[in-house]
Amino acid sequence: MVLKTTKFIWMDGKFVKWKDAKVHVLTHALHYGTAVFEGIHSYKTGKGTAIFRLDEHIDRLFHSANALSMHLRFTKNQLKNSIKKLIKKNKIGDGYIRPLAYYGYGDVGVFPRNVHVNTAIITVPWEHYYSKDLRVMTSKYERHSEKSTVFGAKISGNYANSVLAMHEARKKGYDEALMLDNEGYVAEGPAENIFLVKNGDLITPDSRSSLHGITRNSIMAISKDMGIDAYEKKVSLNEVKNADELFYCGTATEIAPVVSIDNKKIGNGKAGRITLMIRDKFYSIVRGKESKYKKWLAYAN
Ligand code: PMP
Repeated sequence: MVLKTTKFIWMDGKFVKWKDAKVHVLTHALHYGTAVFEGIHSYKTGKGTAIFRLDEHIDRLFHSANALSMHLRFTKNQLKNSIKKLIKKNKIGDGYIRPLAYYGYGDVGVFPRNVHVNTAIITVPWEHYYSKDLRVMTSKYERHSEKSTVFGAKISGNYANSVLAMHEARKKGYDEALMLDNEGYVAEGPAENIFLVKNGDLITPDSRSSLHGITRNSIMAISKDMGIDAYEKKVSLNEVKNADELFYCGTATEIAPVVSIDNKKIGNGKAGRITLMIRDKFYSIVRGKESKYKKWLAYAN
């Protein structure tokens, strides 16, 4: 997808013009990956722009910051209000919101001593990340375990691992990678969670090497409401390959059917019926059409 720019980026309390939103080359996070971030989706609805599960995303941002002993100079409410203001200023409907906190300028050593913590928010217009079904390959790169990072934290440095897996997959002609954990069980995609459908049940890996994402959590809740049994368990690669249906999910990806793994067709090689049912329900919720889930939407206006 081609990046669409907007008028403003929020940096440490100020609305800065897009072209002026710059950092110093000595920024600690550039050298050591010491930034934390979120990806949040906004949707155009009948009542204005709605931000999907804003509270949960901001809570996770603070969890991530805490993992790096990073003290943000803004409260959760200040950041939420700034996101809403930025959405309005940039006239965003369907959009992607990227809050970012990073160790900035101050010292060159690994330990961030006397280094400022900076915070920024970027919003861009955004439609669907994938408009096709996915062909996935198993990556040779293992996903981080709790022995190498903090569970549930979105730390920028961890994403070099995701970038390696994506390059590996794209070089071999696949759309996406599937990453295993340090025990050889299925963990997740480079920036998505995975679900499989088997005999009508919805299963997602219970792995401490995956981010237990907010979309994943939403799908578990929605499915139960739709009368589908949804649960977590340890999942082997073999089970994934023999699933009736498969899909990836995440804030950017939303719900994307996976039609093959390592060139092995999943089901009949087309997007599955249950996958599409859940996706329809998800789209209806994010557009504000399901009163039961209105608690998940924060309106920018
Ligand atoms: N796993 C990883 C590694 C991710 O980066 C993401 C995207 N945040 C996800 C899973 C999906 O999480 P969420 O649904 O909260 O976006």
